[in-house]
Amino acid sequence: MATQRTKKDYCWTCDGDQQHRQLTRKEEDWLKERLGRSGVGEFWLCVNVLDADTGKQCRNLRTGFNKKPFAAAIKVPVLD
Ligand SMILES: [Zn+2]
Repeated sequence: MATQRTKKDYCWTCDGDQQHRQLTRKEEDWLKERLGRSGVGEFWLCVNVLDADTGKQCRNLRTGFNKKPFAAAIKVPVLD
């Protein structure tokens, strides 16, 4: 199934339950580089829209079990 999985879970930067989705291949590659890790499959990205005018999304990361896996928020940039 190529369908991207989503789930509603808590985002600590939005301070509430928000929709999250799994990372795209490009985003996974970016995060692997960022963290210096070979696997990042446990991460979810918050797609809550912060700015209705621009459609800007939160893009904060969490894992399935940890709402705050990093001391400071890591937000995935929009990749082309
Ligand atoms: Zn968020």
